[in-house]
Amino acid sequence: MYYNQDTTVYLDGKWIPAEKATTGLYAQTLHYGNGVFEGIRAYKTENGAQVFKVKEHYERFLYSAKAMHIPCSYTVEQLTALTYELLEKNNLEDAYIRPLLYQGEHMSLMPAEDSHLLLCAWSWGKYLGDTKIRVMTSSYQRPNPKSTHIQAKVVGHYTNSILATREAKQKGFDEALLLDNNGFVAEGPGANFFYEKNGVLYTCPLGNILSGITRQTVFEMAKALNYTLVEKQFTPEDVYGADGAFFTGTAAEIAPIASLDGHDFKKPWEDTIGYVFALYYQKLVTQTANTLETVS
Ligand code: PMP
Repeated sequence: MYYNQDTTVYLDGKWIPAEKATTGLYAQTLHYGNGVFEGIRAYKTENGAQVFKVKEHYERFLYSAKAMHIPCSYTVEQLTALTYELLEKNNLEDAYIRPLLYQGEHMSLMPAEDSHLLLCAWSWGKYLGDTKIRVMTSSYQRPNPKSTHIQAKVVGHYTNSILATREAKQKGFDEALLLDNNGFVAEGPGANFFYEKNGVLYTCPLGNILSGITRQTVFEMAKALNYTLVEKQFTPEDVYGADGAFFTGTAAEIAPIASLDGHDFKKPWEDTIGYVFALYYQKLVTQTANTLETVS
């Protein structure tokens, strides 16, 4: 699904067939989880493939690397150019792009001095699909921000996401919603969370969540379309009985939520602000320029 015999990846300065790409079994990232990555999407537009908010993604990538003491010798501009080359080499326009910066052979608990860069891409539908999903409050909290750099996209953080996703599916739900260590709503395993009540959108502030690039786009859309968006701490009980809710993420885009812990949201999806934003987001990502001003 992720690659076939024709797929090319970028690994440590070389373009090679995905089938031939290998790494060592003594890699520090494999044993201890200290690696960083990104999830980026490219969209087919009239001007060919356009990578949505590529600069913001690679700025976050370099921030994550720095926070975790992983050296990276590439600039945002170099990573951007390599990403377009990757799409071209693989004949991809609508694609999900996965850069991974990982560390090699090193078994101590000091960050390794080296790093390896993998860039790969594949075709991927929306992560949470198009149908409204049933969400449950997870028994797992997001990692305490005093235990790690929660705003960095770190490989090891995703064990928390895997546990929460598995628990939700095992209990018959589609997705989890995780709280922070004070019991306030934080985010999904791989997406930020918003809800709508009486014409106002709410989301939690930064501090316990990944600072999502799609989340930021929602802020920009709210401003452009004149909707009120409030950042505040809230509990699952505050969300029960709201008018609507959605997850945001590069992979998920703007994904409608049917219910939280069995409490249905009141409005049909098509009558919510989330729906307006989902349509607008599609326009935005498929335009040739990535600014709100150019969307008609
Ligand atoms: N939170 C988590 C934990 C994530 O993994 C993601 C996906 N990167 C997001 C939020 C959404 O971030 P973005 O909109 O930048 O994809």
